[in-house]
Amino acid sequence: MSALIIAIDGPAGSGKSTVARALADRLGWSFLDTGAMYRAITVEALRRELDVRDEAALAALSASSVVRTTPRVSINGRDVEDEIRTDRVNEVVSIVAANPLVRASMVARQREFADAQAVGTVVEGRDITTVVFPDATIKIFLSASLDERARRRGGDEEPASLARRDDADSNRRTSPLRVAHDAIEIDTTLRAVDDVVEEIVECLHQKTSS
Ligand code: C5P
Repeated sequence: MSALIIAIDGPAGSGKSTVARALADRLGWSFLDTGAMYRAITVEALRRELDVRDEAALAALSASSVVRTTPRVSINGRDVEDEIRTDRVNEVVSIVAANPLVRASMVARQREFADAQAVGTVVEGRDITTVVFPDATIKIFLSASLDERARRRGGDEEPASLARRDDADSNRRTSPLRVAHDAIEIDTTLRAVDDVVEEIVECLHQKTSS
């Protein structure tokens, strides 16, 4: 495992990616957007016209696919950065992500990614603080009001779609979105990104100097 990990979870549009990316830049660490991995698998499943509820087919697809999230999101060498946030992907990604076999394969790669980083990694998703890195250096749970979360999506995703994904992600059997008992909860509704980043950097300094 890499020396240090900041694990960030929260619902869709809570600011995870923006905060995690800015935090990684600020610290000179790597950044891993795990949602992009589930989205890339979903894009490929749709392209192959698989039934996204077919657990065995999706498990085989995820086990045999190479997914990259940097510098751009790709699957098996095909750039899907511009395809991962369509309405169709928003509609079905939570079904793909509820598949325990797909999750097992993605979680193993997320740990490998962090393992390979020299300094530290900021990782964001839904089960990062609870399942993927339960021993992360610090754990953060970001939240924001539904209106604000929809506003941040800039009209790209309707509030009803966000709410439906949150419901599916929070109520699935495998690795549901939960606040870890030792996570620091930050409501980002009225906060600037830099302000949230500084709060997390301060938490990290306190933790690593104690
Ligand atoms: O973070 P983002 O909204 O891009 O995630 C897309 C979907 O991927 C989520 O709605 C959720 O179903 C799934 N996901 C997950 N576990 C993660 C990250 C994302 O189940 N760690």
